[in-house]
Amino acid sequence: AKNEGRDNCQFYSASLTRQAEKRLNLENDLRNALCNQEFHLLYQPQFDIASERICSVEALVRWLHPQQGLILPLDFIPGAEETGLIIPLGEWILRTACTEAVQWMQAGLTLQVAVNLSPVQFNNPNLLRTVFDILAQTGFPPDKLILEITESALMDHTNNTVTTLNTLRKHNIQITLDDFGTGYSSMSYLKRLPINNIKVDQSFVHGLLDDKDSLAIVRAIISLSRNLGFNLTAEGVETLEQAQALKHFGCKALQGYYFGKPVRMEEMFALTEKQWSI
Ligand code: C2E
Ligand code: CA
Ligand code: CA
Ligand code: CA
Repeated sequence: AKNEGRDNCQFYSASLTRQAEKRLNLENDLRNALCNQEFHLLYQPQFDIASERICSVEALVRWLHPQQGLILPLDFIPGAEETGLIIPLGEWILRTACTEAVQWMQAGLTLQVAVNLSPVQFNNPNLLRTVFDILAQTGFPPDKLILEITESALMDHTNNTVTTLNTLRKHNIQITLDDFGTGYSSMSYLKRLPINNIKVDQSFVHGLLDDKDSLAIVRAIISLSRNLGFNLTAEGVETLEQAQALKHFGCKALQGYYFGKPVRMEEMFALTEKQWSI
C-alpha cells in the first residue's frame, strides 16, 4: 500500500509537471506568435433586414502557425485566457480591427465593426483605457464600434459591470450580448444593463425549422428582447428558409454562412454590393 501511494504521488506530480510544461509552451508560442505577426483577422458580414444591406461585420481572429497551419480560436482562446496572454492578444485584435476599418472607410466602405471581448478582457481594470486609447490612435469612430460580450463576462463581479458598460455607452460604443440563450441571465437582470443588441446563439438557429423547442426558444427570445428594447441578431443562418423565418419573427439582423463566411477585408467590398432578397 505504501508503494502504491508513492507511485500515485509520482504519477500525480509528473502529470502536473507536464501540465505546467504544456502551459509554458503555449504561453511561449502565443508570445512568439504575437511578435511574429502570425495572427490575422477575418470578417463575417452581418445583414441588416430593414435596409437589406450588409451594415456591419464581426471580426474573428485566426492563427496561422508556421508548423501547425491554421488554428481556430476555440483551440487557442481558452489557453490565451488561462495564461493571461488574451490581454495583449485582445488589444492587438481591437487595434487591428479599428485600423483595418479606417482603411475601408478611406476606400469608401463604412461598416460597423463588432469585436469579441473575452470575459478576462472585459473584467480587466485597464479595459476602458485600452479601448479609448485605440479609438483615439486609429481614428475609428466610437459609434461604429460594437463590443460583443458573453453572459459569463457579466457574471464576474470583480469590477463594476454596470459602470463599465455605462462608460462605453456614454461614448456611443455599442454593446452586444453574444451567445444568448446558452447562459444564465435572467431577463430582469438584463433590463438593468445598458446593452443594445442581443445575439441569439446559433444552436437555436440551426434547429429552428426542424425542432419545435428551438423554434419556441427563438420566438420567446425575440419577443422578450423586443419588449425590453434590444435589437436582435441571429447568428449561424445557413439557409434562405432560416433567414425568412427569422425576418418574419422580427429579427433585426442576420449573420451566417448564407450571407458569407468570414473573409479577408478585401473581399468585403464585393459582398456589400450584392443584392439580397429575403
Ligand atoms: P462567436 O463569437 O459566437 O463567433 C461565431 C462563430 O460561428 C465563428 O467561429 C464563425 O465563423 C462561426 N459561424 C458563423 N456563421 C456560421 C454558420 O452559418 N454556421 C456555422 N456552423 N458557424 C458559423 P470562429 O471564428 O471559429 O470563432 C469561434 C469563437 O471563438 C467565437 O464564437 C468567439 O467566441 C471566439 N472568438 C473568435 N474570434 C475572437 C476574438 O477575436 N476574440 C475573442 N475573445 N474571441 C474570439
Ligand atoms: Ca461573437
Ligand atoms: Ca456567438
Ligand atoms: Ca460562441
